[in-house]
Amino acid sequence: MSDKMSFQADVSKMLDIVVNSLYSEKQIFLRELISNASDACDKLKYLALTNPGIAKDSGQFKIRITPDAKANTLTVSDNGIGMNKDDLIKHLGTIAKSGTAEFVKNAADNGSICDLIGQFGVGFYSAFMVADKVEIITRRAGEDKAWKWVSDGCDGFEISEAERGVNGTDIKLFLKKDDANYTDTIYLRHIIRTYSDHVEYPIVLELGEAGEETVNTASALWTRHKSEITEDQYKDFYHHVSKNFDDPWLTLHFKAEGNIEYTGLLYVPSTAPYDLFQPDKKNGLKLYVNKVFISDKVEELMPGYLRFVRGVIDSADLQLNISREMLQHSALIEKIKHGTVSRLLKELKKRAKNYDDYMIFWKNFGIVLKEGIYEDFSNREEIAGLSYFYSTADKEKLTGLDDYIARAKDGQKTIYYITGDNIDVLRNNPQLEAFAEKGIEVLLMNEPIDEFWPQVLPNYKGFAIKHIAQAEDMSFERKEAKADEGSLKKLTELMSGWFKDEVGKVVTTEKLTKSPVSLKTEDGQMSLHLERLMRTHQQQTAFASTRILELNPYHPLIIKLADLTADESKRAEVEDIARLLLDEAKIAEGEAVSNPSRFNEKLSEYILKAI
Ligand code: ADP
Ligand code: MG
Repeated sequence: MSDKMSFQADVSKMLDIVVNSLYSEKQIFLRELISNASDACDKLKYLALTNPGIAKDSGQFKIRITPDAKANTLTVSDNGIGMNKDDLIKHLGTIAKSGTAEFVKNAADNGSICDLIGQFGVGFYSAFMVADKVEIITRRAGEDKAWKWVSDGCDGFEISEAERGVNGTDIKLFLKKDDANYTDTIYLRHIIRTYSDHVEYPIVLELGEAGEETVNTASALWTRHKSEITEDQYKDFYHHVSKNFDDPWLTLHFKAEGNIEYTGLLYVPSTAPYDLFQPDKKNGLKLYVNKVFISDKVEELMPGYLRFVRGVIDSADLQLNISREMLQHSALIEKIKHGTVSRLLKELKKRAKNYDDYMIFWKNFGIVLKEGIYEDFSNREEIAGLSYFYSTADKEKLTGLDDYIARAKDGQKTIYYITGDNIDVLRNNPQLEAFAEKGIEVLLMNEPIDEFWPQVLPNYKGFAIKHIAQAEDMSFERKEAKADEGSLKKLTELMSGWFKDEVGKVVTTEKLTKSPVSLKTEDGQMSLHLERLMRTHQQQTAFASTRILELNPYHPLIIKLADLTADESKRAEVEDIARLLLDEAKIAEGEAVSNPSRFNEKLSEYILKAI
């Protein structure tokens, strides 16, 4: 008796993509099946820690690859955990993972689907790239019944009872006519060595009459000495643990000795993953205890701002039978995390000496690393020192805080920054004019996190970190003609009245050189950028009281406008122009004008008058 079932809609969609769009690198299906077999052995090994009876029939863990050229089939077998009926339905009929929808989306507008398969954990289905039918015989450890799962990868699958002597899984691929080369043992050996050499269980290739052969090195790479590991092996292992296909940007292999001993083999990718900002993104480290895989879900192993790090931590000092829950509150884990983070930050510091090289990293992960200034109290300064920003002093390169300090003027004890949505707009912000006049560098920051971290790091290496709105004495000598005091007063009063719903105050300033007007916030209030961020997140609209419109009394336009206030008959014209100036200030700040059609109309009207 067998049950016929359909794939969940998502699976069908994905199968469609996998089967129809993968032409190159098809051979990765084998890596995926071997990786699943290896996971299955890991799982049983882990269960056996607390329940030794469960693996008694398994013998040594092994992955067996059996090609049959006559029948044109290829079978991948393991003696790992196996699956029962529920497992089969759940794991091979549906996709529980939230990533799938994204896979389908990404695959549609992204040519390199190979890269995605591993990342999205849709590995098993890649078998259908080379097979037009897959048959699984499996028995879950500790259970008596075995099950058979059959599918052609299109119309769903069938499950029926089957026979299997011991726990484990056989995955038999009925190869497509064109894919008969996957029964060729020389080719198989080559693929296994290329993609799966690091797998820690023996991968045994059946050679028919010639017997069998263990193809991989089968030892946990991180336990070997650095000098015995080639760059290619490090790279392969990176591909294995990260499920990425890029080259690692950083490879860090170390052994910590002292009151707690552990080994780490860590990588920083050279490209950013699609889901760097997904809230449920788990950390990318696998925890082993003496080569036994424990978990890849120990959040406490890596802080959130290093969530892009991939690799393995192995410590013999942790108890083997420690429960996953206990790991979460373990002081040892805390120590390992602390030590590992220090090592990583130190390594980043070394790499930061080479600007071009470091920028590869920074462009991918800088925005995430910067979260650490906010989150990691003990490493705050180090992380700030590893952070780079746009700057008024350099149009090409990003600037580190140490670069800024090195360039600071004599007696300058403050690092100034300004925040906004867009770097080009920021560069032209009128508020920077006084700084340019005095030759003081200002860092330009355009990421939301930049509104927050300076609040927790008020100082860096003896320099205060301040938003330019908090700058104290920015006055400088002025020689130009200035508007008449009385008319200026009249103008600011009029404008305060006209614009009371949009700005809290209209004042004159000594700090502008090129622009007639500029917007700022009251000292100590949130920046206009933050105001906008809050508005989009909380749908709040009224912040008008915090904004100040500054007038430049040296600007010809303001001088003229102030003069015109004496003439009552010109009042409507003065109001029109004042409003155009307010809109100009908003645009310079990167904001929308309040009434675009009125703005356009008036602008055209006054341009026409001028020509
Ligand atoms: P992933 O390995 O990322 O979970 P896969 O598509 O490769 O995704 O596999 C889906 C699931 O099927 C696995 O998580 C596992 O539960 C189950 N599975 C696949 N192959 C085996 C196997 N050889 N033994 C036991 N379970 C397996
Ligand atoms: Mg898999």
